[in-house]
Amino acid sequence: MNKPWSDKLRKIEPYIPGEQSKKSNVIKLNANENPYPPSPEVKKVLSNFDTDNLRKYPASDASDLKAALAKCYNINENQIFVGNGSDDVLALCFQSFFCSDKPILFPDLTYSFYPVWCSLFRTPYKTIPLDENFRINPDDYKKENGGVILPNPNAPTGIYENLSFIENILNNNKDSIVIIDEAYIDFGGQSAISLLDKYENLVIVQTMSKSRSLAGLRVGYAFASAELIETLDAVKNSYNSYTMDSVTIAAASASLSDHQYFLDTCNKVINTRNRTINVLNELGFHVLPSETNFVLASHKSISAIHIFEKLKQENIFIRYFKIPRIENYLRITIGTDEEMDTLFSSLKKIL
Ligand code: PMP
Repeated sequence: MNKPWSDKLRKIEPYIPGEQSKKSNVIKLNANENPYPPSPEVKKVLSNFDTDNLRKYPASDASDLKAALAKCYNINENQIFVGNGSDDVLALCFQSFFCSDKPILFPDLTYSFYPVWCSLFRTPYKTIPLDENFRINPDDYKKENGGVILPNPNAPTGIYENLSFIENILNNNKDSIVIIDEAYIDFGGQSAISLLDKYENLVIVQTMSKSRSLAGLRVGYAFASAELIETLDAVKNSYNSYTMDSVTIAAASASLSDHQYFLDTCNKVINTRNRTINVLNELGFHVLPSETNFVLASHKSISAIHIFEKLKQENIFIRYFKIPRIENYLRITIGTDEEMDTLFSSLKKIL
């Protein structure tokens, strides 16, 4: 029922994340989570965490985590911003860098949170169709704009573009901020970090949710020129000084100290992904090339929604998007080899 103050409430269509389940017997391949646990170093730090420290506010600049990131990625601490998951970092980037009246540009098929932030922050935007192979055409990003944001690899396609493609976009957009959302970069792509010194308008956003198995901890970061990081800090400090809690700062820093574990888990996911692509091809799926921890696939004769629903009945959760052009595709997160084997046997039954 309408209340007298109803017209004063914000009306907005929110982003809907992949379904979480309370059931323990679910094979969860619907949110691009990592099937392996985080580094044992994270467990050590959490087990030994001195709860007395929780009396005090955390360092508002999360300096320990920035120092660990600076060491890991070989960049200056003043080029790093950290936040409560990369969704938080991206939302702050939208508020910090996309402040003109001109529309920002992003692909029609991409991370579906981008149009939601545009609506929340009243940022004008224009989507640019991917080509018939679901690739981004860099020439489409040569027009006047208020900023550019692209995931690389793109999601939900999984397709990665190389650094000369990114440089092409940067060279054609010297008057705007270009954000490259590298949520999935550790599964086979090359990060644009090496371009930071050359392009002062480049912002790279990464996350610990995928390649570091820490989706539940909520850690994301941006790398950019010191000037852009200062702007991000000022915007963050205008709404919440303490987005990163002390427990998260300690656990995330520990994760960065275990580089070998990170490489090993990424390689396991990559190997399972490549095997998955081969099996899905054998089962009659068309699978897009992927440099991520998921694949986007469409079956040549059975509809995506049918497969999605049948798998759900078997407690295997994958992701289906009712979005034009990909309404007959399924996004499948890469799980362990055993989980994928169970998926393959269920698919064989369904098909
Ligand atoms: N960017 C992309 C392209 C994503 O798919 C996701 C995951 N939903 C995110 C950013 C956000 O991840 P998180 O907030 O867990 O860091």
